[in-house]
Amino acid sequence: MRASQYFIPTLKEAPAEAEVPSHIYLIRAGYIRQLAAGLYEYLPLGFRVLKKIENIIRKYMDEAGALEVLLPVLTPSELWQETGRWDVYGKELFRLEDRKGRLFALGPTHEETITDLVRKNIRSYKDLPKNFYQIQTKFRDEARPRYGLIRGREFIMKDAYSFDISEEMAVNSYEIMKETYKKIFDELGLDYLMVEADVGAIGGKFSHEFVVKVPNGEAHIVYCDSCGYAANIEAAKYEFELDKLPPENEKPIEKVYTPNVSSVGEVSEFLNVDPKKIVKTLVYILDDGTAVAVLIRGDRELNETKLINYFKALDCHLATSEELEKLGIVEGFVGPIGLDLPVYADVSVKDLHNFVVGANEKDYHYINVNIPRDFKPVDFVDFSTAREGDPCPRCKSPLKETTGLEVGHIFLLGTKYSEAMKAYFVDRDGREKPIIMGCYGIGVSRLMAAAVEQNHDENGIIWPENIAPFKLHLLALNVKDNQIKTVAEEIYKKAKDRGIEVLYDDRDISPGAKFKDADLIGIPYRIVVGRGVKNGKVEIQLRKGGDKREIAVENVDEFLEKL
Ligand code: ATP
Ligand code: MG
Repeated sequence: MRASQYFIPTLKEAPAEAEVPSHIYLIRAGYIRQLAAGLYEYLPLGFRVLKKIENIIRKYMDEAGALEVLLPVLTPSELWQETGRWDVYGKELFRLEDRKGRLFALGPTHEETITDLVRKNIRSYKDLPKNFYQIQTKFRDEARPRYGLIRGREFIMKDAYSFDISEEMAVNSYEIMKETYKKIFDELGLDYLMVEADVGAIGGKFSHEFVVKVPNGEAHIVYCDSCGYAANIEAAKYEFELDKLPPENEKPIEKVYTPNVSSVGEVSEFLNVDPKKIVKTLVYILDDGTAVAVLIRGDRELNETKLINYFKALDCHLATSEELEKLGIVEGFVGPIGLDLPVYADVSVKDLHNFVVGANEKDYHYINVNIPRDFKPVDFVDFSTAREGDPCPRCKSPLKETTGLEVGHIFLLGTKYSEAMKAYFVDRDGREKPIIMGCYGIGVSRLMAAAVEQNHDENGIIWPENIAPFKLHLLALNVKDNQIKTVAEEIYKKAKDRGIEVLYDDRDISPGAKFKDADLIGIPYRIVVGRGVKNGKVEIQLRKGGDKREIAVENVDEFLEKL
């Protein structure tokens, strides 16, 4: 491709709202443009990368026996009503009405649609298993579309759905997808973790996320270098047994005056006690308005996802000052003793002795509190957020913490959708049973951003080879120089004849501008034809690492051969 005839509108500056490297460079290097918040246009370069990612995904999905389909983007509201998600999905669902007043949604995901297809067309165990997938534009009216392709309102997803006759076979389908995903992300050239994920509101048996490691990513992961365990901090089990304080004899409980002292830090300093022996009492309001008190050791952080899951709530929030006042609770000095709320305790509080809690009275705390002598929680639950240094739930080594971007998600759904939508099959024994399902997503457009997040330097993108828009960038540094032009044209022809994807910068602009653009665009291999041709030399450069070496023009063939 000749740059002079192509369309690569590079920019010196990124737009103000671009904060992360992928957003900045994909725009500056002319891969994408924003149309409106969360809506992006893929320019020719961006489109090429997208197709490469899609084709790698397609190759391995096909190899795994999944069948590609294409479902309508418009999905009838009746299907969403059947599973209850018309209401549950809330504002993220783009809803619209046709001319007859029938309601539709722009598909954010397609469990309902595919389950409808299957229930209408699959009857017998002989028709199963099946795994259908599609690569399609999805719509979600995200509360905060941001970071360019990372969180769009319209984005491209590969979604797959497996249908099986037994739990065992469904697990097998799930395992096949897990292995397939590893092949896909390996071939994409990304550094990723497969993490145990929270099953959350979608419901289901188990779930893994594929997370590309990046600084400041939205996903918070703990992982173990020794045994390979990795989990979302919401899903990671807290091994409190290995983090307990030594046992102590119970001392008599005492109410102490602690004027204006309420945070863990303040109480710890004022009373001169280890934060591990101060128990925080957090009042949470669940989505149905129920208030609950949750205890957690002073050095631990509560995880709201774990809380939501335990109470099977959709949402929760820390009680505000007004809400506390309504409940008759003294802010800053809340404690479990004499509190008129159900009290739940994080496992970190289990077997803790002589600890400190608020006294439900302004400026007072209790010290030397003990369970069950002084109060009894309804239940001990793992509400702790896992963190660096916690013992690995599998091998007990200290965990490490990192952030990342979720690029894939697999779920064993079970019969949630098949039962709600009556997708049954007739088994060998003649009985009707619900089909067991799994669902498997990959964020195709997010992957493009994830690859850049992981592969860039201060000058621009450094594409992993398998998804680079072109393999070779040929720069003719001065197209007005006949010798340069002739040699460059020759190399261009040779590369094309060999089927190498080559971008040929034949524009009449300064060498400096060409190098700047080339760095920004990030094509892995570069041949630079400049003044050196006078001595029969051209330069080979690698975008990654910046290696440069001169080779004789007659050796270019050999180099192209290697490519
Ligand atoms: P997130 O937690 O990031 O919102 P999700 O759990 O809602 O993701 P899924 O419903 O599992 O995502 O969708 C499958 C994949 O689609 C995700 O793993 C992610 O890579 C991608 N994805 C989800 N939402 C977006 C979005 N708004 N923009 C781009 N890609 C997205
Ligand atoms: Mg989401």
